[in-house]
Amino acid sequence: MKVDYIIVGMGLAGIAFSKKLLAENKSFVVFENESQHSSVVAGGMYNPVVLKRFTPVWNAEDQLKIALPFYQELESTLQAHYNYALPIHRIFKSVQEQNNWFVACDKPLMQDYMLPSVGTDKNPGLVSDFGYGKLVNTGRIDTKTLLKDYRTFLMDKELIKMESFVYDALEHLEDSVLYKGISAGKIVFCEGYGMLQNPWFKDLPMQEAKGELITIHAPALKVDYLIKAAVFVMPIGDDLYKVGATFNWKDKTNSPTLAGKEELLMKLEMFLTCPFTVVDHVAGIRPTVKDRRPLVGVHPIYKNYTILNGLGTRGVMIAPQAANQLYDCLAHNITIPKDVCISRFKS
Ligand SMILES: Cc1cc2nc3c(=O)[nH]c(=O)nc-3n(C[C@H](O)[C@H](O)[C@H](O)COP(=O)(O)OP(=O)(O)OC[C@H]3O[C@@H](n4cnc5c(N)ncnc54)[C@H](O)[C@@H]3O)c2cc1C
Repeated sequence: MKVDYIIVGMGLAGIAFSKKLLAENKSFVVFENESQHSSVVAGGMYNPVVLKRFTPVWNAEDQLKIALPFYQELESTLQAHYNYALPIHRIFKSVQEQNNWFVACDKPLMQDYMLPSVGTDKNPGLVSDFGYGKLVNTGRIDTKTLLKDYRTFLMDKELIKMESFVYDALEHLEDSVLYKGISAGKIVFCEGYGMLQNPWFKDLPMQEAKGELITIHAPALKVDYLIKAAVFVMPIGDDLYKVGATFNWKDKTNSPTLAGKEELLMKLEMFLTCPFTVVDHVAGIRPTVKDRRPLVGVHPIYKNYTILNGLGTRGVMIAPQAANQLYDCLAHNITIPKDVCISRFKS
């Protein structure tokens, strides 16, 4: 078997790179072993404003210009709905926060997203003594359904092998790589936190961050916007809401924990007063990098080994742009921007 690319990992990074290959008429095969869950459990939110400090998210405008058409194309290819527009109500904790909001609203980049007023929520199920600021042009991608549908789409075309990629079986040749009888021009590693098992890239400074989410059923809540307070509450239909997420820098397992659930419930009950029941609880590890930028690039010695990783807490917005940057480098020799290129860690 001969292909242009082997891809290891089918999370958001793997989807973004393989979709680019399909658009460019390149051949590929994907290996996926379901060892990591980040893209499956993600809240899927896209939002270009840092909700803690009301500052712009790094590179968000450029990322969204690529990401929104990207998800729209996937919707049309797979004949399904993944992108749900969802305004955000950022609940204020103090008058100081209200003032900071107005200052941020005046900044040019923020005007398309932050409305310059303080809203008052009359919902009896919510406590918001200082009101809220409203963000628009934000939304969520249903990453779980997207991943399921996209994997099925690749299976139907026999482009994905649901098995572990065995690093010892890979050979680097002068102009190609060879893996268990498959010859490919390049290999692209998109393993998320699984990167730490990869002999060629494991030394890159990943600071993986475990996250847990619960889903609650709250029939009396009746909101059609995302609430951001101590945690976020995201409507997903049928009176169900995702609530998240925790950050744990020590626990490296994918398992939901009692401590994670209790933390979410404690934070939720600070502002949600209506009755609810917990119906689901999931966890995954975000592939976060020391400097909070993606890991895109080519191995310094093995030139046919490449990586697309480090999507951190914002994979939905970053993945499509980072995939294009890697492809443009491999196919057209276009330099990868310094702030995302793995060569920044050369020393
Ligand atoms: C709780 C939580 C909430 C989040 N919320 C958001 C959000 O609201 N918005 C947002 O943008 N981002 C969010 N994120 C972050 C987002 O999920 C990540 O940025 C993104 O999913 C990373 O995608 P990835 O493809 O790099 O990694 P992964 O999703 O981890 O995919 C890597 C894939 O590689 C496979 N793999 C690994 N090793 C091997 C191997 N040896 N052989 C075969 N396959 C292998 C794994 O099984 C996995 O499927 C959240 C993450 C978590 C955990």
